[in-house]
Amino acid sequence: MAHLSLYRRFRPDSFDKMVRQEHVVRILKNQIEGNQIGHAYLFTGPRGTGKTSIARIFARAVNCEHPKDGSPCGQCATCRALGEGSLDISEIDAASNNGVAEMRDLREKVQYPPVTGRYKVYIIDEVHMLTDAAFNALLKTLEEPPAHAIFILATTEPQKIPATILSRCMRLDFKLIPEEDLEKHLKSILDEIGKPYEEEAVAAIARAGAGSDRDMLSIAEACIVYADKLTYEAVCAVLGAADFHETAKLVSAMLTFDLDTAISSVESILSEGKSVGVLLKDILQLLSRITIAKTCSDAEKLLSLPKQLFSEIKSVADRADGRAVLRATEILIRTENELRFVSSPRISLETAILRASHPESDADSEALIVRINHLEEELKNGTLTVSAAPMSEIRHAETPSPVKELLPEEDDFSFPDEEPIFEEAYFSDGPAPQKKPPEPIVPAKEAPAEKPLFAPAPAPPPAPVPAPSPAQPVVPVPAGEMSAEVAFGKFMRALRKTPKSGVLFTMCSDLLASYEGETLVLTTESDTIYTALRREDHRRAMEEIFAGIGITDFDVRKKGAKPTQKSAIEELKSNFGDYPIEFK
Ligand SMILES: [Zn+2]
Repeated sequence: MAHLSLYRRFRPDSFDKMVRQEHVVRILKNQIEGNQIGHAYLFTGPRGTGKTSIARIFARAVNCEHPKDGSPCGQCATCRALGEGSLDISEIDAASNNGVAEMRDLREKVQYPPVTGRYKVYIIDEVHMLTDAAFNALLKTLEEPPAHAIFILATTEPQKIPATILSRCMRLDFKLIPEEDLEKHLKSILDEIGKPYEEEAVAAIARAGAGSDRDMLSIAEACIVYADKLTYEAVCAVLGAADFHETAKLVSAMLTFDLDTAISSVESILSEGKSVGVLLKDILQLLSRITIAKTCSDAEKLLSLPKQLFSEIKSVADRADGRAVLRATEILIRTENELRFVSSPRISLETAILRASHPESDADSEALIVRINHLEEELKNGTLTVSAAPMSEIRHAETPSPVKELLPEEDDFSFPDEEPIFEEAYFSDGPAPQKKPPEPIVPAKEAPAEKPLFAPAPAPPPAPVPAPSPAQPVVPVPAGEMSAEVAFGKFMRALRKTPKSGVLFTMCSDLLASYEGETLVLTTESDTIYTALRREDHRRAMEEIFAGIGITDFDVRKKGAKPTQKSAIEELKSNFGDYPIEFK
């Protein structure tokens, strides 16, 4: 005997054997029993939900001599004749016969009366694939159908059907089949063919069917061939879905901010050959279940998962903070949307996991709230540890060069309104402390256990305080020049707000300000900066900005020991690598 797929072998032959779609079945049965059969139907709905099966049952039922409760009896002469393929029931696949010729042919043949029963039934599958001309030809038939003709148009995309056709059809919408019904159906089939199965395995297959009976059965078929017994492992192997426990481990780590475990789980899952897209879907599905487990009182019933899986989800949900779940979901949904536009999906996924596992890397309010909740939780449990190292690493990775920090585009960099901090950061003497941001804010690489609870971890690193590039010597601040520094601080703030002033800003940030009489004198030790700042365009830009803060008398001068010309150029090149600089 030729192999028949499960779906075809167990295709329902009566309305009562249909999996769900009761609303459609009821209407059709009533029409048959009341003898009020229409001439044109449009069956719409997702694939594998029973459109063609119901069309076939209906086609035989309308012809049956003694229909039983609206379904074909299967016994009468007509039922037997139609069962073996008959001229009276024609199935047309519009995906392959979509031209005007086929529709004209149909129009001609429909005129001949049925051979065995009362009706000729035309089932046109994927009807949205017809060309415009073919639709027009079909429309002519639908406008004046012979009394013995019934058309059943089936489509997954009703929006592509012309309104003229739609208005002549009775539209019946098929719905996705709930997982529990799919499971029940699959179990009944497995029992019938005598295949042993695990509950978890059946649940996983039903889930993978995603509301489609046909999809579920074809997956089940592959799993049945794969192993003697239908086990959960076999199903995972066939589906290529990441093993649930591994995904749960990853998501749990992500939600409890265990970056190491999260990233290594991603590595291990992907190294088994799972695709990034599948893993991302698995993670999102798990997150949505965690949300349900966290928020709904009857989550167990809603999720209808095997007990063991549900308890695993529940324990992750109990440990995770609701906002962290929400934030992770948002980040990953964004990533899913972006995935088809990126050249390296893996990096996108890893970045997303990294962000979700690490609210410290974001400065938005959502991330901050997640961090605060996390800290509160740790405080409550007495498990607060200082885990600052990854944070500082990430900060460093994000801000590779001091120049970038200084660019005006950096939103998180700002000068204080009045000067002290600015001046200290820029002009305090002693090069060593200047290179480091203030002590309590930047977390230590290795957090000593006796460190006070509150100090390092909670605070986000402050706006990176710009330090002069290491090559530049620091000019000591002359005592009693605060007013010049205040003026210069105002200048720098105004300069920062000026568009495209990044390079000028960087060069000016190493100037030293002092008054000589009425003149605000800005000094630099660097020949190159001195030369550059005296250039016409820079000079004019500075003039404008100084004028804006009420200073008209200023001068740029060279001071102290000159670095050699060569090293100054190299220094400038290293600082402004991607900015064209002319050396004259
Ligand atoms: Zn019959």
